[in-house]
Amino acid sequence: MASKDTKKQRRKKAEIDSNEIITLENVSKAYSTGAPALNGISLHIKRGEFVFIVGDSGSGKSTLIKLLLRELTATDGFIRVLGYDLGRIKHRKIPRFRRNIGVVFQDFRLLKDLNVYENVAFAQRIVEAPAKEIRRNVPSMLATVGLAGKYKAKPKQLSGGEQQRVALARALVNQPEILLADEPTGNLDPKNSWEIMKLLEEINECGTTVVVVTHNREIVNEMKKRVITMRKGVIISDEENGGYIDEED
Ligand code: ADP
Ligand code: MG
Repeated sequence: MASKDTKKQRRKKAEIDSNEIITLENVSKAYSTGAPALNGISLHIKRGEFVFIVGDSGSGKSTLIKLLLRELTATDGFIRVLGYDLGRIKHRKIPRFRRNIGVVFQDFRLLKDLNVYENVAFAQRIVEAPAKEIRRNVPSMLATVGLAGKYKAKPKQLSGGEQQRVALARALVNQPEILLADEPTGNLDPKNSWEIMKLLEEINECGTTVVVVTHNREIVNEMKKRVITMRKGVIISDEENGGYIDEED
């Protein structure tokens, strides 16, 4: 009887674990200077979730994103992303791990000498996708982000909103399981900000887990997603259907 229960519990735990795509347990990150950027954070994100991360500048949001990408390693604690223990992952396995994660940043980070099509195709070439697949996936991804007519434009011929759409297409063309966005609308006007966030929502509805760092109070309040609020390296609130918490003391 007892052994049956244990088995059941074990199976239950395995089910929970397989749904959990991002796990942090008591994670701290100290840079060589100053106070720790993250101080004992625990966080659990399930496959298919849409999560906003908000908080004052300097509260540790970008540090968290970099830890999830294994661009940084934690000073203390445990991080698992997509089944990889990031404290133990071998260096040669990091590129394979990162293939499953798309990333966009505030400053777009496009290759300025390549046109729109080539910027997106570049991501497919890195993973050695066959030419036939590239010819199929790139136009389809550009259509998804609303840039079907702009293949030949160079980044500097595009508006900020259009550049961020290219960055998004590039982040998604390899069909990652997770999309991380660090202030993706930080350089955009309200209309383009909404359009990018709606795209992120659509992408999430198609199954991708989406984590978005933002300062956009209006969008956070209206979209009614899970909202994690950080302050000085700790999580001060984590709410479903959450809103933007004012940071004044
Ligand atoms: P946020 O993205 O919320 O603005 P960050 O994660 O960028 O916050 O920064 C958190 C804290 O860590 C800040 O105090 C910042 O100054 C510090 N920090 C960030 N990057 C570095 C670094 N490379 N070296 C030293 N301190 C850093
Ligand atoms: Mg930041």
